[in-house]
Amino acid sequence: MSKKIKQIAIYGKGGIGKSTTTSNISAALSTMGYKVMQFGCDPKADSTNTLRDGTYIPTVLDTLREKNKVNAQDVIFQGFNGVYCVEAGGPAPGVGCAGRGIITAVQLLKQLNVYEELDLDVIIYDVLGDVVCGGFAVPIREGIAEHVFTVSSADFMAVYAANNLFKGIQKYSNSGGALLGGLIANSINAPYSRDIIDDFVAKTKTRVVEYVPRSVTVTQAELQGKTTIEAAPNSEQAKVYRSLAKKVIETTESKVPAPLEISELRAWAATWADHLLAMETGEVRGKASGI
Ligand code: ADP
Ligand code: MG
Repeated sequence: MSKKIKQIAIYGKGGIGKSTTTSNISAALSTMGYKVMQFGCDPKADSTNTLRDGTYIPTVLDTLREKNKVNAQDVIFQGFNGVYCVEAGGPAPGVGCAGRGIITAVQLLKQLNVYEELDLDVIIYDVLGDVVCGGFAVPIREGIAEHVFTVSSADFMAVYAANNLFKGIQKYSNSGGALLGGLIANSINAPYSRDIIDDFVAKTKTRVVEYVPRSVTVTQAELQGKTTIEAAPNSEQAKVYRSLAKKVIETTESKVPAPLEISELRAWAATWADHLLAMETGEVRGKASGI
């Protein structure tokens, strides 16, 4: 009998740290004994680089364009500690739908029966995402992933993308779509960043899974083509990623988030803008102490 594979999707704005975070989660889970597949769903196709010494693997879409018959070994490559790496890839820029690539890649692996054959415990999809395009909602919509996490910093554009994702999850939640496991707060160093994110998750009825600091350890590891888990396993940052990985794999109950309407989101951001300005000028302290 085949066991149930845990399917997780990680979303977030471009450049926010999805692939870095996902690869460290995959690497950490592999060291805990889980059989992991990381499935890159960004047309950039660089999700799995740091699991494979900085090298790029052929994408499913490119391979399908080149060959009539594609075998599992043409598109699945092992990386650090045996993590299976796949990159969906994308269409030529300006042509076709990038989301289509995700559907095609997922279908191909299903046809090839690889999920069962590899005896996987967990598949993590690393997905670009504002969910403005229906294609990128595929892992949520089609019930491919069960639990969704979003990576966000305290920057407004990142929060905006997270809020859009919440809208997508809410929309499909009645038809068997994936639910939200929580928000992974990345690059959180300033105390006010934490306050902003805490406020956002409270307003949208979700939770922070982990606060991940911005760290030069991550940069050093990336420059060596490695995850932090591989390059600096004893670092503080690796500890954070292991703790995050444990929380992600142990998530059993995800929820429907409560996204803000765009006008509410803007008003919320404006309040924070006033607050940060007041902090800078010292007004806040004055007010708080009743002067
Ligand atoms: P995405 O996959 O969301 O497009 P990446 O994971 O490729 O983003 O990250 C973008 C850049 O930010 C990379 O150079 C990465 O090393 C860096 N980065 C992400 N998270 C951190 C962090 N916590 N500390 C330091 N650098 C980070
Ligand atoms: Mg990426």
